[in-house]
Amino acid sequence: MQEVKKFLSKNDEQEIVTAIKTAENNTSGEIRIHVESESEKDAYERALEVFQQLEMYNTEQRNGVLIYIAVNDKSFVICGDKGIDAVVSENFWNTTKDTMQHYFKKGNFKEGIVAGVLKAGEELKAHFPWQQNDEDELSNEISKG
Ligand code: CA
Ligand code: CA
Repeated sequence: MQEVKKFLSKNDEQEIVTAIKTAENNTSGEIRIHVESESEKDAYERALEVFQQLEMYNTEQRNGVLIYIAVNDKSFVICGDKGIDAVVSENFWNTTKDTMQHYFKKGNFKEGIVAGVLKAGEELKAHFPWQQNDEDELSNEISKG
């Protein structure tokens, strides 16, 4: 989508992809980012929809995580698959959310995403450590809608 370019430059995107790779060196969990300007739907509902569209359930341990961001709506949702939900507490993502919010409030959009991705990787590590035979099950590229 054209509009997303206003929020993220090519370099920003590259930095985010690098952060995803770094995070996934710590955990078998798979992190994806979806950015769009706004959504007519409730952000959480929309995040679940994107999760399905990106077929993020296609992981062996069901440990995909989508960070959904609607920029103009100033909303974001962290949406983990059921393999994660099964082993973590309800407020598991709060530290990641807080980290992102901290940067977003200051208008540091890219920094917030990078920090959120890295934080999510650290949090996942305890439950889903990286393994020798790890595969990159879900693309690291940013999805834009
Ligand atoms: Ca992986
Ligand atoms: Ca990946």
